[in-house]
Amino acid sequence: MNSIFSNLGTTIFETMSGLAVKHAAINLGQGFPEGLEPAPLLEYLAACAQAAPHQYPSMMGTMALRQAVARHEHSYWGYQPDPATEVMVTSGATEALAASLLALIEPGDKVLVLEPLYDSYLPIIRRGGGVPVCVRLEAPYWTLPREPIEAAFRQGVKVLIVNSPTNPSGKVFSFDELRFLADLACRYDATVISDEVYEHLTYDEQRHIPLSTLPGMAERTVKIGSAGKIFSVTGWKVGWIVAAPKLLGVIAKAHQFLTFTTPPMLQAAVAWGLDTQAEYYTTLATILAARRDRLSLGLSGAGFSVLPASGSYFLTADYLALTTQPDDVAFCMQLVERVGVAAIPVSAFYAENIPTGSIRFCFAKTDQAIDEAVIRLQAWRDGGKC
Ligand code: PMP
Ligand code: GLN
Repeated sequence: MNSIFSNLGTTIFETMSGLAVKHAAINLGQGFPEGLEPAPLLEYLAACAQAAPHQYPSMMGTMALRQAVARHEHSYWGYQPDPATEVMVTSGATEALAASLLALIEPGDKVLVLEPLYDSYLPIIRRGGGVPVCVRLEAPYWTLPREPIEAAFRQGVKVLIVNSPTNPSGKVFSFDELRFLADLACRYDATVISDEVYEHLTYDEQRHIPLSTLPGMAERTVKIGSAGKIFSVTGWKVGWIVAAPKLLGVIAKAHQFLTFTTPPMLQAAVAWGLDTQAEYYTTLATILAARRDRLSLGLSGAGFSVLPASGSYFLTADYLALTTQPDDVAFCMQLVERVGVAAIPVSAFYAENIPTGSIRFCFAKTDQAIDEAVIRLQAWRDGGKC
């Protein structure tokens, strides 16, 4: 068996959601939103289930969705990819990441990643024969450590992965930070995988900046998007890649033997949604910012030290003032089993799984779920029965 996968644990999101069900816990762990699915989109999907073709569409995705993605990029981010050669539909961003990494990496290539990082990156880099080079961003501000990043480029980085807004830290990269990374990518001729699944989820006047819009970056950026995040339907697993034909052509060769295609009725609904439901996803951030503030206030009241977060679905919180348990995995196990609240240990987002003293909460949940979780956490802190 392949040692990379046989030595790998089950992803923490599956583990914690399973434990949340087992212990009837409030699930603030896995990053999926609650109660936000747009009703018109669901109705449209139901009609598509009756009307749409149900056979294999083109492996590149339906032209309707590729055109809608191109219009979306133009409307929000001001650049116009060619839907015929620069857009490909994937089965979620997860598949887009895997196809991109498998297609771009040659054995031995160095791939620069910024920790804390989304958990699918490292195993796929390694399976592709790549050598991850991890540079850490430190809480609470997650500023870019420029010298180690520059040193990594000097030592021959071929691919860089950037995720803004970031899971789990909620950081939104500034123009200056992106320009620093873009300049290095251009100078050292590296390709950048830009995981922008939370592109519409920025708060507090922060603005998302797509990396491909920076000078010199269009031809070297692989932008990854996800309808799951845009429309709060994470189970649909419809994603896409926008990249120059030279890059996309090779990534498509990997995609053709990973999933080949994505259900056509879902593609039809997402295409319709992108063209008609813009108000939904541009106002989503207002709703989510209110949920973030509600959870942040509640967690602070329960004794957590909550870090600032301006994007994504996530808040990270330091818990060391609350317990003698320094191990974040053990602390999350205790919370889900005894307190009835599921969260994610932040160590899961580091290559070396070093306990961090902080855990991640997803705030994209209903107000009732947030309030009940806070009540349980406060009761636990006060030593009462949960
Ligand atoms: N990238 C990041 C940063 C994520 O948080 C996620 C999880 N939703 C994904 C990619 C995967 O997205 P999808 O569900 O579209 O596969
Ligand atoms: N992206 C989601 C999270 O960070 C999880 C996705 C998954 O479970 N595969 O919680």
